[in-house]
Amino acid sequence: MKQPITGFHLDEENHWVADLGCGHRQHMRHDPPWMERPWILTEEGRRSRLGVELECNRCDEAGRAVAEAVREALASAARQAYEDGGMSGLCAEGRWDLALDAMRAADLTPAIRRALGQERQDG
Ligand SMILES: [Zn+2]
Repeated sequence: MKQPITGFHLDEENHWVADLGCGHRQHMRHDPPWMERPWILTEEGRRSRLGVELECNRCDEAGRAVAEAVREALASAARQAYEDGGMSGLCAEGRWDLALDAMRAADLTPAIRRALGQERQDG
């Protein structure tokens, strides 16, 4: 996912780090001949890069983690409702309706929070 550069700061090892709009960060090393970014060394160069969009892998990872958590939460809500429907003696169609209702009513916030919290700890 592309995110704009909103600012720059130095890390504890005096390397420049770009702050992205999403809150994630990316090192912008000038380490010739491996990495040529002479612009990072000047105030003017850095200012000229504000708003430039970078690919943020952390955001992609977060997106995948949230998608996985949501799938899991929905499947679990549906499974539970389908089983409950069976215990209450509903027919297959009734159980399916119950499972659909459960998926529609499922509170996904805790699963999403957990997935994002996990991602933040890893990063
Ligand atoms: Zn990001």
